[in-house]
Amino acid sequence: MNLWFEQVVADGDPLVPRPPLTGDTDADVCVVGAGYTGLWTAWALLRADPGLRVVVVEREIAGFGASGRNGGWCSALFPAGPAALDRRHGAGAGAAMGAAMRATVDDVGAAVAEEGIACDWRKGGTVTLARTPAQVVRARREPGWIGPAEASALVGAAGVLGATVTPDCARVQPARLVRGLARAVERRGGRIVEGTTALSVAPRRVVTDRGVVRAGAVVRAAEAWSAGLAPRSVAPVYSLIVATRPLPASFWEVAGLAGGRTFTDHRHLIVYGQRTADDRLVFGGRGAPYHWRSRIRPEFDADERVFAGLRAAARELFPALRPGDFTHAWGGPLGIPRDWHAGVGYADGLGWAGGYVGDGVGTSHLAGRTLAALILGRDDPVTGLPWVGHRSRRWEPEPLRWLLVNAGLRLMTLADSEERLTRRPSVIAASLSRALGR
Ligand SMILES: Cc1cc2nc3c(=O)[nH]c(=O)nc-3n(C[C@H](O)[C@H](O)[C@H](O)COP(=O)(O)OP(=O)(O)OC[C@H]3O[C@@H](n4cnc5c(N)ncnc54)[C@H](O)[C@@H]3O)c2cc1C
Repeated sequence: MNLWFEQVVADGDPLVPRPPLTGDTDADVCVVGAGYTGLWTAWALLRADPGLRVVVVEREIAGFGASGRNGGWCSALFPAGPAALDRRHGAGAGAAMGAAMRATVDDVGAAVAEEGIACDWRKGGTVTLARTPAQVVRARREPGWIGPAEASALVGAAGVLGATVTPDCARVQPARLVRGLARAVERRGGRIVEGTTALSVAPRRVVTDRGVVRAGAVVRAAEAWSAGLAPRSVAPVYSLIVATRPLPASFWEVAGLAGGRTFTDHRHLIVYGQRTADDRLVFGGRGAPYHWRSRIRPEFDADERVFAGLRAAARELFPALRPGDFTHAWGGPLGIPRDWHAGVGYADGLGWAGGYVGDGVGTSHLAGRTLAALILGRDDPVTGLPWVGHRSRRWEPEPLRWLLVNAGLRLMTLADSEERLTRRPSVIAASLSRALGR
């Protein structure tokens, strides 16, 4: 079991599945998937109109997907960068999306407080370390640059040459958030059916293995699993995490990360971490392969080679860590759209949201608010944001998809090696970003 679910069970939530759907039913809105996207959508709908009949259909249990397993960064990051957004949607699109994402971090905090969800929410910002000369060159082009002494005081990692900082990120215990959110949806009158698989999702009609839900509006919120419901819409790519036991005060006196601060560095193959409320280090990253034909299987959650790489990367950052400090390791699939650009939309009785890559904790809240406004036809400025109505082009069929995704992951590792050797920003990474339109 992952650390987050272990803690939820210790909190007194035994993770017993809610009853499944029992035959055909009618609803105003049927949402498929009880992760953050589906639950924030249900929550926003019921908050706007408590009389709505909202049914959330979940194959496993609420939070089974990425929402119960992630690294717990509720950030203002959006997978498509500001320049890419301007290129695609016109000047100002990147700034508008950035402002909405920054506001969303606080909106999640406000919703968590409103619902009394105890999920270790703490907005402490993010420090992105620069630890090679090439990383310094790239980092200094970004806002929020600080020098080595200041950076080391925030994150006492080895070899820090400087950092960029942003206040726009909160640390959260992700499973406590998603499980608490599910209870909040139920308190507001929503119905969550678990152990119920949607077999097809169409406008106004969801066919499940337990009956048909007819609804005025249907929302697809299955993220990585969307590949099975809307083929080639996203590539499920695995992200993996390792975690330590609670570490002593002597470790944190050096490592810092006080006040819910999250951290990463400027390498290309993403790694990131947080200090949990009980003083563990949770450290995650990519590097696991994409699996042929977008397959998702429980055994893909664990990849010992990647776990070993993550432990080594964490120890290289924090040499005081010992191999025996690591107690947990887990992973899960996230959804990558072909153009790396998340989207949300609603048309003719069918809504969708996702393609967040690794930035869904905050973005899913904005998606839920947006979907609720679109479905209810209410005025909300978020319905005019550039990502609304955006659909990525589809992924290539196999074997090209397998080659493209895995080559992309491999190239990011090579880009880091290139920078270590040349001490200059990677040409490989720049070419890959251009190819992806990022
Ligand atoms: C290891 C890891 C670390 C991450 N770290 C971060 C982070 O630190 N910050 C960040 O912003 N993002 C992070 N992400 C991404 C983030 O977790 C996701 O973007 C977000 O949780 C997506 O939420 P969701 O509700 O759209 O999808 P999910 O949480 O994946 O939920 C989809 C749900 O749909 C259900 N489902 C699927 N198919 C069906 C079906 N046919 N019928 C019924 N139900 C179905 C699934 O069981 C699942 O519960 C991470 C992801 C992973 C995997």
